Amino acid sequence: MSSLGLEVEKIDCCEGGCMLYDKEDIYLIECKFYHLPCYFKSKGDRGRYKNIPRKRMFYLPIIPILQRLYASMEFESNEMAF
Ligand SMILES: [Zn+2]
Repeated sequence: MSSLGLEVEKIDCCEGGCMLYDKEDIYLIECKFYHLPCYFKSKGDRGRYKNIPRKRMFYLPIIPILQRLYASMEFESNEMAF
């Protein structure tokens, strides 16, 4: 656990930007929508192939941020749009 509770996560995503390879999709080898390959094949250590993501994004998980916001201030309305 980090002291801040905020860690940047790295997620592999489609080159075309149409999907993230997250959760169960992490095992896909091509994009669900356009069938673009997700990975470069690269020969790694000891002759084993490694999958190198073509694109990767970084994001800050929003839930801990929201929890901190709620903890530190009161909103006048619950109808905030995210
Ligand atoms: Zn795609």
